[in-house]
Amino acid sequence: MKIDKKTIPTPFSYLDKQFSSIDLYLDDIKRLVLSGDFTLGKELEKFEKSFAKISKVNYAIGVASGTEAITLSLKSLGVGPGDEVITTPTTFVSTVGAIVATGAKPVFVDSENGFVIDPSKIEKVITNKTKAIVPVHYTGNVADMPAIMSIANSYKLHVVEDSAQAIGASLNNKPVGSWGSTGCFSFHPLKNLNVWGDAGMIITNSEEIANKLKILRNNGLINRDEVAIYGHNSRLDTLQAVIGNRLIKTMPDITQARIDNAKKYDSAFLKLNLPIIPPNRRKGVKHVYHLYMLRCEKRDKLLEYLNANQIEAKIHYPIPMHLQKASSYLGYKKGDFPISEADSKSIITLPAHQHLNDDQIEYTIETIKDFYCN
Ligand SMILES: *Cc1c(COP(=O)(O)O)cnc(C)c1O
Repeated sequence: MKIDKKTIPTPFSYLDKQFSSIDLYLDDIKRLVLSGDFTLGKELEKFEKSFAKISKVNYAIGVASGTEAITLSLKSLGVGPGDEVITTPTTFVSTVGAIVATGAKPVFVDSENGFVIDPSKIEKVITNKTKAIVPVHYTGNVADMPAIMSIANSYKLHVVEDSAQAIGASLNNKPVGSWGSTGCFSFHPLKNLNVWGDAGMIITNSEEIANKLKILRNNGLINRDEVAIYGHNSRLDTLQAVIGNRLIKTMPDITQARIDNAKKYDSAFLKLNLPIIPPNRRKGVKHVYHLYMLRCEKRDKLLEYLNANQIEAKIHYPIPMHLQKASSYLGYKKGDFPISEADSKSIITLPAHQHLNDDQIEYTIETIKDFYCN
């Protein structure tokens, strides 16, 4: 295949294309503005109902962000100062920041081949202070939920699923977020379902947790005048719910396009015998490829080469959470989590979003071939 390199930049961001039929969205917003229904209200309820439906759960509660979804979930389950919460250092800062925001102490467990928490290492770090596990469905892959739920059940721990990168993902046809006590989602502009600012969602099957979350996100108010508990001002902005209501209908197409692109990459890399290798694809997992991430040799040089050839590859992330300065008070050191640390040095994320065409995917593969073979 002959591709003219200059004509095919392969960007990571696609937001310019995502909202190209902007007038439809603006009409919806105009209607909202004229109705004055700016806080909570009908549009948010509609978005919550649709989201609960695609997640196959009873309740969905809109909140201000994915980070807030995790913090409020943990608070609703009674997690606070003096408690320990288990998660993985292979994640975006929010997972850990949300745990810290409750006053609890984050306790890390290494990840496995697919960039998600390794359940076989969880039991070793459980203490009498452990209250919850926060698995992260990192990159859009799904953590081993049956194994995690079984540990959680035998130690009576809560599970809060950080599903920020995994909207639409499932394991054995059971959607992410519906396994644990709650599941947390983000609609940040860089996520698969992306509104025009910050927004998040918590899903649960428990009426009790849902009711508590509705109070917690709204300053602890049970009505205009009465405060039951001290909460947050963390409602999902109704204006963003309007965007979500239109975009959520396109989720199946977005998800399928990403899966198709990832398949093209996977089959090419498995055939080519280059030092760039997709992780295990576990059976029963519907991976939604928020990030198409894989391990490779000469990572920094490859990144430079791809960027120089107009392919916007990225690193998510070069420093695992236990080695961040903010984590220094936790007392971890280099060598504590070998998989996570090795990944941080060898992972690369290739553009795989729904607005790429076959030429761009092919061009990326060819450019990687050039890099390793020349
Ligand atoms: C984006 C993200 C979050 C936080 O979502 P925000 O809406 O940005 O607050 C949490 N966890 C992970 C793994 C994420 O990628």
